Amino acid sequence: MIIRDDLLLWAAAALLLLFGSWGCTAMAPRPPITAEKSIRKIVVFPFQLPPDTADKNACLRCPICGRVYRSGFVAPIIGPQLTTQLVERLQQVKTLTVVGIEAGEKERLKATVCDFGAEMDIQALLQAGQSRNADGVLIGYIFRYEDRQGSDYAVSSPASVAFDLHLISVPTGEVVWQAAFDQTQAALSDNLFNIDTFIQRKGRWVSADELAAEGLAGLLDTHMEP
Ligand SMILES: [Zn+2]
Repeated sequence: MIIRDDLLLWAAAALLLLFGSWGCTAMAPRPPITAEKSIRKIVVFPFQLPPDTADKNACLRCPICGRVYRSGFVAPIIGPQLTTQLVERLQQVKTLTVVGIEAGEKERLKATVCDFGAEMDIQALLQAGQSRNADGVLIGYIFRYEDRQGSDYAVSSPASVAFDLHLISVPTGEVVWQAAFDQTQAALSDNLFNIDTFIQRKGRWVSADELAAEGLAGLLDTHMEP
């Protein structure tokens, strides 16, 4: 099926903006990641990806928060790519010091942190934080990173991305902040309440990279103190 947004949708968007008071309730604001004042130095783990053997379109459970996501294709390059974007954004927060895990620990931790479906023993994470003298460890999971099939204005399948992030206090082992992004782009005709996003994207079908960048910015920037 070809999905297409045309001028009629733009006209509908304009009318909604002009006259619209459609009672859309905004999501309750989350505290910023920096709200936890005791955390000033963070060890950032690379984003973890589902194993190659994971079934697509199945349910994948986050080992930290237990939330269940639809699984999908994730290319191996996506882990380092999204981790780099995450670190770059965190480094802009003046009150945070961001460090990576020690090279020697990567292999030891790999089996522990990437066991999707099992509840994680976070002691290994906390040890990694202690070894870097950090107050917190930040770890994220990518569950789906599927690109659009089509072009800017017509797709047979839209981009679909899901990932989440968790900040764990090293002294207490508690998850002190977490956020999730789980979105498949929908046509405006399927959801008129998405009008702001539709306009921001100039009516285009975005790529998975664009969708993920939007998601990361939404999770971090809008809730971060400069
Ligand atoms: Zn989670």
